[in-house]
Amino acid sequence: MRLLILGGIGEALKLAHTLASIHTVIYSIAGKGRIPNLPCQVRIGGFGGVDGLTTFLRENQVQLLIDCTHPYAAQISHNALQAARQADIPLWAYRRPAWQPMVGDDWRFAADWSEIQFALREFQRPFFTLGLEPLRHVTDIPSHQHWLVRCLAAESPISSHMTLLCATGPFTLEQESILLRKHRIDVLVAKNSGGGAVEAKLTAARKIAIPVIMFDRPRLPVADREFTESGSLTNALFFIG
Ligand code: NAP
Repeated sequence: MRLLILGGIGEALKLAHTLASIHTVIYSIAGKGRIPNLPCQVRIGGFGGVDGLTTFLRENQVQLLIDCTHPYAAQISHNALQAARQADIPLWAYRRPAWQPMVGDDWRFAADWSEIQFALREFQRPFFTLGLEPLRHVTDIPSHQHWLVRCLAAESPISSHMTLLCATGPFTLEQESILLRKHRIDVLVAKNSGGGAVEAKLTAARKIAIPVIMFDRPRLPVADREFTESGSLTNALFFIG
């Protein structure tokens, strides 16, 4: 079977590795992170919206589209549903479960940037793990705050109120604990990405008793089949023709 996997997370890489010997797999990434070494075709970069993805599906005679993208990569998930409909093929999706607060956690929830800013007003040294978004608001940093911003890669905007840290996970509990202490962090701002690769920061925040401002997940479209365990998705694909 000819499959297009929309990837970008660890589970997608494992899926492509496992299925490459059984199916004809094309693995697609946005290209902002590491370029993986896989035993299948890897394509890098956007398709050019829904129409571009539809054309790609048709030209490559893809029979099944698999959305295995990051839970916050909502645009590509919405494009995937529309393109699958236009190309008249099924869409399957892996929907990674969200993290749940545990005893000792102090989570506060924010739906957008203005709610994050409002929740932050009582803090001095927030640590942002939201990707590039905080860098767009450097001119809004209140004078009583110093921001630590971690993302994959970025040019540092000049501000004496911000420290930029370019790094790629996974991170250990020890690394996260040292980082929080070194920068005297008093609040963590995070996406509810789920999974194990970047979860240690939540454990570190719990251990030193600092609150977490959790940025709500975006709404994702409903696929023809959805899986919340990557192993179940792999098994289902193992046994189709
Ligand atoms: P997005 O808003 O869903 O996608 C923006 C555009 O990037 C898409 O419209 C598409 O371009 C292209 N794109 C995204 N994923 C692709 C894939 N697998 N293959 C080919 N093209 C792809 O996602 P985003 O802007 O990349 O990220 C949104 C949020 O998710 C950020 O907060 C980011 O930190 C987080 N995140 C994303 C990824 C990822 O791999 N995308 C991984 C980790 C975290 P066209 O419309 O031109 O096709």
